[in-house]
Amino acid sequence: MPRRAVVEEEALSYPLGRSITDKLQKLNVPVQLLPRGARLSLPRAKTSAQGYEEAKNTLVVRVRKDRDFASCKPSAHYQLPLISSCPGMCQYCYLQTTLGPRPYIRVYANRDQILKTAGELMDRRKPEITVFEGAATSDPLPVEYLTGSLAAAIEFFGKSETGLFRFVTKFNDVEPILGLDHRRKTTVRFSLNADHVIRTYEHRTAGLEQRLEALARVKQDGYPVGVMIGPIITFEGWKEQYSRLMERIAAALDSGRTVGIPEDRSKTGEDMPFRTGQALPSHTGQARLSQTRQPDVVHFELITHRFTSRAKRNILSVFPNACLPMDESERRLVYGQFGYTKYLYPKETMEEIRAFFENAISRMPGGRLQYLV
Ligand code: SF4
Repeated sequence: MPRRAVVEEEALSYPLGRSITDKLQKLNVPVQLLPRGARLSLPRAKTSAQGYEEAKNTLVVRVRKDRDFASCKPSAHYQLPLISSCPGMCQYCYLQTTLGPRPYIRVYANRDQILKTAGELMDRRKPEITVFEGAATSDPLPVEYLTGSLAAAIEFFGKSETGLFRFVTKFNDVEPILGLDHRRKTTVRFSLNADHVIRTYEHRTAGLEQRLEALARVKQDGYPVGVMIGPIITFEGWKEQYSRLMERIAAALDSGRTVGIPEDRSKTGEDMPFRTGQALPSHTGQARLSQTRQPDVVHFELITHRFTSRAKRNILSVFPNACLPMDESERRLVYGQFGYTKYLYPKETMEEIRAFFENAISRMPGGRLQYLV
């Protein structure tokens, strides 16, 4: 629940802008109207940590003017810009670097225009499949109770011939996306981690058991599902904890077996990973998609912990007591694709992590390693 909301005057000319505002008022969230042309200003903060915390408690309802969609390679073609930021406060969140020091939560009132633009982009690429990522700069699930934007996008892509949608979440309130006509065009991925990592670094997110229960529920509802584990951290006892995590994931996947998918929803959808510029199928439409369907395949995306000097500075300014392992002397310095440097685990540790997870995933029914970085 946001502590305060700011609604751009222009957002009220859209039904979604009005409905979000109504809901906020019914929930007794103080709503401030931002007149056209006025600049958004948040309460003054004495420290970066306070400013960050205030921003994470502020919801801004806006109209998205930019009609361009950012690309999202290699896992999707485009970002679907429905929401930006999220109420979670994970110490390592990369949005601290990309969204700046005041990452307030932005939701867009002109959702229908945004989806229309997505439709135009798909049309331009026809007959190729076009994949959209809904969580590139946000976790969209925790504000779904206000916006309904994920549900709208899921049904939109359900009707599309060549569009696929995917998003990832660390939250568990999946109720609003159950029972939709998704036609297996949306892959719901859950970001999971060892209990120790969730409890120590992922503040204000759902607990592991809650996320696993949500994973089972969306799987039961017929969605293709995926698992992201990141950051993988080699704390003391990491192998035991990650082994337990993999066992719990297997149990959740088993309890969420898609035995009851209605016939019309089981015919189409994404059950294979699409990495742009790499494994994109050149086929057309739904018939071919159904031929590639592997109902119980679950892809694992694994990301080992890494940091840049800039990210470390940002993290320490908003979490002065951050306990993330960021000692450069224990890491390997690597030059990134865009000229910046990042600190990764040493090669031996990376190999140990890879061997551990390859083994664990090979024993997971339907488990496939999509990538490990
Ligand atoms: Fe960032 Fe995701 Fe955590 Fe939100 S839930 S703070 S987007 S890492």
